[in-house]
Amino acid sequence: MSPSPRPQRGALRGQAKRRLLLIGLLVTLLIFAVTSLSYRVLKQRDLEQRREQVRAHYNQLLPRLGSQQLSQGLQLAARIEFSRILERPSAERWPMLTAFLNAQWSFSTFSNLVVLDPAGKPIYRHGAESDSLLLQASQAPHWLYEPQYHQLYRIYRIPLWLGSEGQGQLVLFKTLSHSSLSEWAIPQTQLELTHEGRLVARSSAEPVDALDDPARYLRLEIPWPRDEAAEGQTYPVLLAYRDLGDLLPHGQFVARPVALALLILGLLWYGLGRWLGGTVRRIESLGQGARRYARQHDRNQLLPALAPALERDDEIKDTALAFEHLVAAIEEREQEQLSYLQTLELLEEAVIEFNAEGRILRASPAWSALCHQEDGQCDCIHSQIHPDDLPLLKAQAEQLFQGQKQGVTLRLRLHAKGRGRAGHDLWIEARLLAFADRHGRVENVRGVLRDITQTYTHEQQISHMALHDALTELPNRVLLEDRFKIALRLAARNEEMVGVCFIDLDHFKLVNDSLGHKAGDRLLLSFADRLQQSLRKGDTLARWGGDEFVLLLPEMQDENDIRTVAGKVISALQQPLEVMDNEIRMTLSMGVAVYPNDSEEMETLFSQADRAMFFAKAQGRNQLCFFHDMSSKGPGKQELYIQNRLAAAVEQGLIQAWFQPVVDSRSHACTSLEVLARWQDAENGWISPATFIPMAENLGLIGALGNKILLDSLDALCRLNQLGYDLWVAVNISKRQLFIPGFVEWLLQELAERGLRPGQLILEITESVALSDVESGADTVQRLRGAGFHLAIDDFGTGYSSLSQLHEMQANELKIDISFIRRLFQPDGKTMVQAIIRMAQALEMKTVAEGVETSECAELLAQMGADCLQGYLFGKPMPLAEFELWLERNRQEPRIATS
Ligand code: C2E
Ligand code: CA
Ligand code: CA
Repeated sequence: MSPSPRPQRGALRGQAKRRLLLIGLLVTLLIFAVTSLSYRVLKQRDLEQRREQVRAHYNQLLPRLGSQQLSQGLQLAARIEFSRILERPSAERWPMLTAFLNAQWSFSTFSNLVVLDPAGKPIYRHGAESDSLLLQASQAPHWLYEPQYHQLYRIYRIPLWLGSEGQGQLVLFKTLSHSSLSEWAIPQTQLELTHEGRLVARSSAEPVDALDDPARYLRLEIPWPRDEAAEGQTYPVLLAYRDLGDLLPHGQFVARPVALALLILGLLWYGLGRWLGGTVRRIESLGQGARRYARQHDRNQLLPALAPALERDDEIKDTALAFEHLVAAIEEREQEQLSYLQTLELLEEAVIEFNAEGRILRASPAWSALCHQEDGQCDCIHSQIHPDDLPLLKAQAEQLFQGQKQGVTLRLRLHAKGRGRAGHDLWIEARLLAFADRHGRVENVRGVLRDITQTYTHEQQISHMALHDALTELPNRVLLEDRFKIALRLAARNEEMVGVCFIDLDHFKLVNDSLGHKAGDRLLLSFADRLQQSLRKGDTLARWGGDEFVLLLPEMQDENDIRTVAGKVISALQQPLEVMDNEIRMTLSMGVAVYPNDSEEMETLFSQADRAMFFAKAQGRNQLCFFHDMSSKGPGKQELYIQNRLAAAVEQGLIQAWFQPVVDSRSHACTSLEVLARWQDAENGWISPATFIPMAENLGLIGALGNKILLDSLDALCRLNQLGYDLWVAVNISKRQLFIPGFVEWLLQELAERGLRPGQLILEITESVALSDVESGADTVQRLRGAGFHLAIDDFGTGYSSLSQLHEMQANELKIDISFIRRLFQPDGKTMVQAIIRMAQALEMKTVAEGVETSECAELLAQMGADCLQGYLFGKPMPLAEFELWLERNRQEPRIATS
């Protein structure tokens, strides 16, 4: 896992803060701009309002002042007239007027006054400046500026009755001084009065220049209201200065919202910063957790690392939980993988994967062990395989890589060279499977390899034992048949002849009876030795059973060749045989059949040679008889007789089913029973199924016979079920029966009619039939298994089945052939049986040992792990009624039979 680039710590927080700062500044700027703008607008409006207020005030005030002063003037004139002072004699009137005015002065507003006579000549003056004022008043009828006193006067002219002199005029001078302006001034306003550009009065003591500051004062010019009488005169102008001190300064106006904005920004900065800090820390914890997990691969370390993220119920927690689940899932997967790998390590099987060139891409530890290499550094599988087996491996692998096959199983040797166990090749069983990629291309092949050296050796031994007679080490029937088939094929191809000779020692029983079995055995041995010396390499001498031998002579050019060899065999016996210090002279009877002259079928040739031998014996023994030389050219008399009676017996249903118990090896409780055919002929007595079953097969009677036995078995099963026994019933099925069309369907039908299940039946099939993949026999076996029947491989050990074949066959049980049990107390025999039991256990098959006759044998087999036992020790085959009694006894006391 490559580490992802680590983000700078706090980068997210930094980003967010920068962004927040930027937004805050922009907002502040915007607030600043907006407030500035609105300040201007508001200020403008405010100024305008104030201007209007001031102007309105003075526009009202000034005319009112004018008319006030005028009315005061008129009052004054009226009072003077009313006092009639002026109607008095001139010497009196002026001092009286002065006195009157002085008395009135306190409420007079006029500083100076002059009385004019009707001609306009001044006749009376009051006030210090009245003289000079009157002088100038002629030019300025209403307003007069007096430079000397630096005063502005408003002049009122009011008609005045002078009595006898008639109508005169009262001229009143009203000064507009600093004090009058102070009176007029309204709060926050300063006033100045100008006349003809001259400043004539002020209401305040402020320096003149100070009022000119437009930031502090709003300046208004209010022209004095005009009246019609005073046209053509210069009017004074009133200057009002409105103090703007109460106006909110720009700075303050803008500063507040900006400060507020900054405050909010600050709060946001603080609050958001804290929140962001926490959030970032929590998000960071996710990353930290991931990195720590990548480093340490420890989930216990992960949770503490994720703790900050789990603090609050939000998406981050969800993510952390999801992450944790993911990690849990990963760990589960890893654990699974680990346990798979550990399992792989435990396995003795090696698992490897290799490509088309044979290069090993992956290998489990067991592979190194298989190769005996420390580190499993065997790059190419080819270098490990025995040169003789390499072509096989390459050919099979080729098929896998080309997609022609999905999987193959093969047996190979690992090359001994360079391995610890020098000199010993290792036998392995390899199951190879092709693995296609998504496009269906097979790039690699996986293989499970298992050391089967021991099994293989056992198998070799078993098959040797199975194929050879224990006493003489000669090939037995099975091997003989095999070689016979090969010989027939070769002969057919090369147009040669094959001779088959049945040999029977004359009066062997006598030797057995007089000198004992041991001597009999020795005799058979030295006889076999003697015969073999006179044979070619390609000939086969086999033991057929007892004192019967068969000689197979392949690659014969004509019948004379056969006669020569047969003659040689007979003359070889002219010298006596040495048996335990005794010299015994023996003779033999021999029957010969010849391929292709007599028949092309092996079975027929066997029976022809057999009959010829019978014939030879019947002719007085010690002679050779060719089948086609037999006068009758038919079967032996007795045999023919039996054959005839067999057909009748089958037809009449005289052949009965007998039952032999099979018991559990430990408890000796009955688990199943084997059905065996029994025939008691009225003339010949009991005839062995070993004789009449092959006969029935040859005569085409096996179908009828087999069906009868099967039906009897089913009836017996019903009966036993009724009695409350839950037992399997094992029935022997002949090879020929399997070829009968409709056999499976018929059997299922019969079962169904009786309400039985296929699983209650065990079908015993001999090893060679069960496993041969020729013809349809094996196919029927597959179908029987598919239908649910239990399958048993009978006479196991007499065929050539390999482990893998057994595995594929999936039979439920394996019956160890009686010949192995016979040899149980010989060292190699015991090894064999043990090997067979282990093999069956490995394949999860039940083992049944046949032919158990002694309790030592039963005990030993139980110890060795055999599951079930069958034999005379527990019970011989018996009719159903007797078997029921036996069962009853066994149920009460599962013990060894006494009969
Ligand atoms: P098998 O299937 O191997 O049957 C077991 C044989 O061993 C039987 O011989 C049985 O009587 C015998 N046996 C059982 N326990 C002992 C024991 O303790 N000691 C000795 N010495 N022998 C024991 P059997 O009945 O003579 O049958 C011979 C063969 O004939 C059978 O061998 C089987 O292959 C065939 N066979 C018998 N009945 C039938 C049948 O109904 N149908 C077919 N197709 N074949 C049958
Ligand atoms: Ca059997
Ligand atoms: Ca058997």
